[in-house]
Amino acid sequence: MSKRDYYDVLGVNKGASKDEIKKAYRKLSKKYHPDINKEADADEKFKEVKEAYEVLSDDQKRAHYDQFGHTDPNQGFGGGGDFGGGFGGFEDIFNTFFGGGGGRRRDPNAPRQGADLQYSMTLSFEEAVFGKETDIEIPREETCETCNGSGAKPGTKVDTCKHCHGSGQLNVEQNTPFGRIVNRRVCSYCNGTGKEIKEKCRTCSGTGKVNKRNKINVKIPAGVDDGQQLRVAGKGEPGINGGPPGDLYIVFHIRSHEFFERDGDDIYCEMPITFVQSALGDEIEVPTVHGKVKLKIPAGTQTGTRFRLKGKGVPNVRGYGTGDQHIIVKVLTPTKLSEKQKQLLREFADISGQVPLGDHEEGFFSKVKRAFKGE
Ligand SMILES: [Zn+2]
Ligand SMILES: [Zn+2]
Repeated sequence: MSKRDYYDVLGVNKGASKDEIKKAYRKLSKKYHPDINKEADADEKFKEVKEAYEVLSDDQKRAHYDQFGHTDPNQGFGGGGDFGGGFGGFEDIFNTFFGGGGGRRRDPNAPRQGADLQYSMTLSFEEAVFGKETDIEIPREETCETCNGSGAKPGTKVDTCKHCHGSGQLNVEQNTPFGRIVNRRVCSYCNGTGKEIKEKCRTCSGTGKVNKRNKINVKIPAGVDDGQQLRVAGKGEPGINGGPPGDLYIVFHIRSHEFFERDGDDIYCEMPITFVQSALGDEIEVPTVHGKVKLKIPAGTQTGTRFRLKGKGVPNVRGYGTGDQHIIVKVLTPTKLSEKQKQLLREFADISGQVPLGDHEEGFFSKVKRAFKGE
């Protein structure tokens, strides 16, 4: 619900004198006073009149209202429908200038946590399964040891910034589609430190920070999966003004394997067998990440049959057991046959007839036969 214009509420024009405004208020406040007026919306109207008068009778508030309307940059846009959505309030605008962090009046000297860092690490399929211990080098900003982060040459004087008077922020007036708005911005003269350095520290050129390559030993747990991240507490950027350091997040990318495929803690692979093995049965050796395993193929195994090797998958990264390996058998039809092999197969076919051997698909083939007969 949008708010009515204060001048409209009092029924005066924009150039109304103080007297006119006072008169209009007296008249309307009497009219809508809840003790006098018993209409249902009298109380609402009385409040509206009172609010309009409070603003328009005060020179400063009236000037502000004339400039900003119901938009008060110090109090948020306050739910008025005047802006048709988009901004949730002044905080939204404010935060866009500061990258979304922190409160509105940030004290430049308050301790703040250092920024989190992200590191991308690529692992082989096996490394992800079994984990590993490794050293990584992270470039990060560290507090300059020469000046202890002050940015000033040791022993020199540090003054309060003249431009922002030590607040680290400057007010910038800006015209926006919503009217004139006062924004607070990081002071560009002191970069928000609130200090003016007379002589800069030579090690860090006055920034108070130095870039270092930081070697970190990381223990990657067995079972990490693609896209998962590992938080290494306290290994992000150093804190500001004595605040705690940020964290380091290692994001894992797992290379695919030419033979194995992973789904969570389970591993899948396809295993080709000959049609003779599938018909007569066999014992074959299959690879797993844990080494070779013998697998019994029963006689009459169909292509696509799945076998499960319990516990031969990936150890759960949180320690909840180990996944399985699934083997999907693929029966290969021979393509290069010698004359003798062909002869044997023809004999085999003669003995067997045209209906495939086995009872499992009888239903299907009798349907095919009926289809040929046109039934
Ligand atoms: Zn320094
Ligand atoms: Zn400043």
